[in-house]
Amino acid sequence: MEVDLYRHKGMRRALVKVLRAKGIRSEQVLAAIEAVPRHFFFEKAFLEQAYEDKAFPIGEGQTISQPYTVAFQTELLNLRPTDKVLEIGTGSGYQCWVLLQLTPHVYTIEFNRVLYEKARRFFRMYQLNPHTFHGDGSEGLPRHAPYDKIIVTAGAPGVPRSLVRQLAIGGILVIPVGDEKLQKMLRITRTGENDFTKEEFSDFKFVPLLGKSGWETTD
Ligand code: SAM
Repeated sequence: MEVDLYRHKGMRRALVKVLRAKGIRSEQVLAAIEAVPRHFFFEKAFLEQAYEDKAFPIGEGQTISQPYTVAFQTELLNLRPTDKVLEIGTGSGYQCWVLLQLTPHVYTIEFNRVLYEKARRFFRMYQLNPHTFHGDGSEGLPRHAPYDKIIVTAGAPGVPRSLVRQLAIGGILVIPVGDEKLQKMLRITRTGENDFTKEEFSDFKFVPLLGKSGWETTD
C-alpha cells in the first residue's frame, strides 16, 4: 500500500498546471487528475516519472496513458455523477480511477488477463469499486448496456457498430481511430435511435485495440 504525501500532492498540482496550459478546461476533470495518486501505479524507483505528462510501460507491452490523454478523453465525455460509463482497456486502472472521481457507475473491461488481475488487486487494495470484466471489449459489454458514456483507451481501426449501439440516446462514445501509428480522437454522440453525430479532434498515439473489432486477436 502506497502513501500519498504532501510532496506528491505538490507534484500533481504542477501536473494540473501543465494540463491547463495544454488546453484542458474542465475544472472537474482537472480536480479529478489532482485527486488521483498516479504514483500508486509506479514502482518506487520511477516516482519522478509518475507526474510527468508521459505514457509509461505497465508490462505486457501496454502503457498507462499520458495524463493529457486521460484528461482530454475524460473532458470529451462530459461526465455527470449519474452517468453509467464503460471503459474499454482497463490497463493499469488509472483512467478508471479518474472516471470514478466523476461518477460511481464505472464498468471497465480488459483483454489481457495479467493486467486484468493486477488491476483488480489494485482496486481492492484501495477500496475502489468499479465493475471489472476480463475479455474482448472491442464489441463493448452488451449484457450491461446501455451506457451513457463509452471510452476506448486503445487505438481502433474503425468505429465498432456494436459500441454505438450500446449507447443510450444522448450518449457519447470517445474513441481513437486510425492506423497502428496514429489515431484521431473521435466523439460520437447518439442523438436518436438511428442518429449519430461525429466530431473529430487531434491526433494521438495509442497501443492497438485487439479483438474482434480491433486489429488482431490475442489470449
Ligand atoms: N486505460 C488504461 C490506463 O489508464 O492505464 C490505459 C490502457 S492501455 C493504453 C490500453 C489497454 O487496452 C491495454 O491494457 C490493452 O490490454 C487493452 N486492450 C486492448 N484491446 C482490448 C480489447 N479488445 N478489450 C479490452 N481491452 C483491450
